[in-house]
Amino acid sequence: MSVLRLEHALLDGRVEDDVLLTVEDGLIAGVSTGPSVGGVSTGSTTVAGITMPGLANCHSHAFHRALRGRTQAERGSFWTWREQMYRLAEELTPDSYKDLAVEVYSEMRATGITAVGEFHYLHHQPDGTPYDDPNEMGRALLAAADEAGIRIRLLDTCYLAAGIGRQPEGVQRRFSDGDADRWAERVEAFGDERVGAAIHSVRAVPREQLGVVAGWARRHDAPLHVHLSEQVAENEECLAAYGVTPTQLLADAGVLGPMTTAVHATHLTETDVRLLGESGTFACFCPTTERDLADGIGPSRFLHDAGSRLTLGSDSHAVIDLFEEMRGVEMHERLATRQRGHWSAAELLAAATYDGHESLGFADGGRIAVGQRADLVTVGLDTWRTRGAGATAEALVFAATGADVVA
Ligand SMILES: [Zn+2]
Repeated sequence: MSVLRLEHALLDGRVEDDVLLTVEDGLIAGVSTGPSVGGVSTGSTTVAGITMPGLANCHSHAFHRALRGRTQAERGSFWTWREQMYRLAEELTPDSYKDLAVEVYSEMRATGITAVGEFHYLHHQPDGTPYDDPNEMGRALLAAADEAGIRIRLLDTCYLAAGIGRQPEGVQRRFSDGDADRWAERVEAFGDERVGAAIHSVRAVPREQLGVVAGWARRHDAPLHVHLSEQVAENEECLAAYGVTPTQLLADAGVLGPMTTAVHATHLTETDVRLLGESGTFACFCPTTERDLADGIGPSRFLHDAGSRLTLGSDSHAVIDLFEEMRGVEMHERLATRQRGHWSAAELLAAATYDGHESLGFADGGRIAVGQRADLVTVGLDTWRTRGAGATAEALVFAATGADVVA
């Protein structure tokens, strides 16, 4: 058992002073606050700064990290960025992918992230042939997470088509299992409880096969994530092919629900927002990627008010900093509406901590409370950015960065 005396701690969205924490077997066994705590010193370790639950990065494509700084040299679109990303995807092997992912997850750790949802679709050899162990690439990511010391939900992604009605081309052959039943067979063989499910998008999984993936996730009580309406082109393609929006298509196929996360959810109709909210589907926003790729600004507040809890991800890892993602949600709304105060610091911290954890199927993480995992990070209050900003939730969200995480 260890006893930590926290100078400041984030409890239920508020920063409290003088918090005494006991930790046993990696779990929080006791939390007490108040002035009496100040006198306790025997056998305890004092932690300066604000200690908070470790952050959950709910949307990661680890290999995109290699593109950082390299896609800005010329003008381009989302689709030209995707071409560069595909060229990179062609070259990775299980070994080189593991090495890259260790770096990425270590960077996450250093910036206060203790849990990651890895949206993984780089499954097969370059010509589409499975490796001897068809889950070798996924296992490389799990091993990388172990080595970096980060908790992972490997969201094994079903990716079958280049677009609606189009066969996979080029590097996309690495992504495809042929059909959703074969995807399920491969994932079933994984035999690791850290594996969850993902549907790449309505572009990449045909309508009649969406239910197979959703059914697998339900049977295994596993989180299910899906890219949704990141680009207007996806909506147009879906409307042309099926006559409904991507959200409606997912709703009709039984994909939405409280174990499901819609990633991006940028270009939605009012009905889409209602479908997502009423089903209790999480909405994962990735502001630093969405602005990098010129996606647009999703209706985060409408989604939240309709019933979709917000979570956050660094997605393409142009930036790995969940503090910046928190801030980005509010700042983008401000620029779009010329009004301040859409999101409170406490709400954004909830997105980055316990709501994020829950969307990854980790209900035992994201709070400083008895019974929760003691995945804790500390933000220093004497750095250039945080000095004088106060020991408050607002200082965490609007002043701190990942570089201010000191432990
Ligand atoms: Zn993504």
